[in-house]
Amino acid sequence: MTRRDLFHLAGACSIPWQAKNRIETEVVRLRLRHTWTVATSTSDYRDNIYVRFNAQGVAGLGEGAPLARYRESAREGVQALEKVRAYLETCDPWQFTKVLAEVFGRIPGNYAAKCALDIALMDWVGKKLGVPLYRYFGLDPRDAPLTTFSIGIDTPEITRQKVREAAEFPVLKIKVGLDTDEATIAAVRSVTDKPLRVDANEGWKSREEAVRKILWLEKQGVELVEQPLPAHMIEETAWVRERVNIPVIADEACLHPEDIPKLAGAFDGVNVKLAKAGGIQTAWRMIHMARALGMKVMLGCMIESSVAVTAAAHLSPLADWADLDGNLLIANDPYRGVRVERGRLILPEGPGLGLTAT
Ligand code: MG
Repeated sequence: MTRRDLFHLAGACSIPWQAKNRIETEVVRLRLRHTWTVATSTSDYRDNIYVRFNAQGVAGLGEGAPLARYRESAREGVQALEKVRAYLETCDPWQFTKVLAEVFGRIPGNYAAKCALDIALMDWVGKKLGVPLYRYFGLDPRDAPLTTFSIGIDTPEITRQKVREAAEFPVLKIKVGLDTDEATIAAVRSVTDKPLRVDANEGWKSREEAVRKILWLEKQGVELVEQPLPAHMIEETAWVRERVNIPVIADEACLHPEDIPKLAGAFDGVNVKLAKAGGIQTAWRMIHMARALGMKVMLGCMIESSVAVTAAAHLSPLADWADLDGNLLIANDPYRGVRVERGRLILPEGPGLGLTAT
């Protein structure tokens, strides 16, 4: 028997050996262009989790933004992924739904880490199939809604400067929720008369305060309000919703699919974010769950690079409103993906997420 015959014989047998998948995790520090202040926190940088999933000659890339508000950190997220490393190294990435369910079962919490892994898997799947993710989900990229650009809480002078810098965006999202709200909106209105959305980030403490502020904001050309009261105050939010005229959207009250049924009736819609849900697959389920309950859908993001924001953008044709500007708020984005032209989201055409390194 020649050596060639031996190789042929080996090829004909099923060989149990299989190349391991290679999983790389990294904590990436993203620097903010402006100090970022909302009703509950202030920061100059964010540490996000990157995951690279390498299998069968293709690498998928994902990102997750851990938030202290949800008791998550990048360090703990990376440690959690170590617990499933052996499983991921031998899993079949084509079984991505099963793989994610398994990981969700093995890791408590740490949704940002799960999000980074899920995005990396879906990027891998799209690249293997040779299609952009929006096409994998059967979506028309021209249905992507306009995105808002977010203005964090600041002095009136800096607020005016930020609003001027955001001149190309047709709709702005203004962070409120402190006792400077009137001054903030007055500063915005001294520069522009474009439509506004406001996000109180749980900042108003009573239902009466929320109604008073929202009725005033309606007169200032505000078209919706996000999370007026703390997340647990669902009955109080229903009381507020009966007394105001603009949609009330849940963000901090809506993290996972199981949160949505109890929000129907108290909120008009939900703000779905990949980092809260644990990735693209769960966010997709949340969008359809909200629809089944007759609710509107906003697709939002955290302070994230183009990796996670582009992943969300691929689902944005399913949303009524998009708030996908996290990558525009940072100074050192390592990738380029979704672009924004006068508020319009332009999805990349490349396979998977369609990212290129900057
Ligand atoms: Mg929000």
